[in-house]
Amino acid sequence: MSNINTPKKRGGLFDIRHVAGLGYVVVDDLGARRGGPSPFKRQMATLRDQLEAEADKAAKRGPRPCLRCANDFHSEGIHNRLCPHCRNISSGEQSVRPSIPARKFG
Ligand SMILES: [Zn+2]
Repeated sequence: MSNINTPKKRGGLFDIRHVAGLGYVVVDDLGARRGGPSPFKRQMATLRDQLEAEADKAAKRGPRPCLRCANDFHSEGIHNRLCPHCRNISSGEQSVRPSIPARKFG
């Protein structure tokens, strides 16, 4: 007998687990608890869906090399190409050198 009723994992980052003595929790792909515990699995499923929706949106965010200084910074989104430092500079300065300085990483 095959368990065809098992919901297929959507390849999401978040998972619901049952922890003995606690209840249901939502964990991320690293196993860190992101929500719960709750005695209601449905509640955690809702939370899991929310977290996954947020993660999808956030997929466009994250570390990004600054177009100006080439340092990695936490981009707020695809529109966000300058690190906060360079954004401050360019807002007060008209000529922005487009060339990226050669910089050793590490
Ligand atoms: Zn920068």
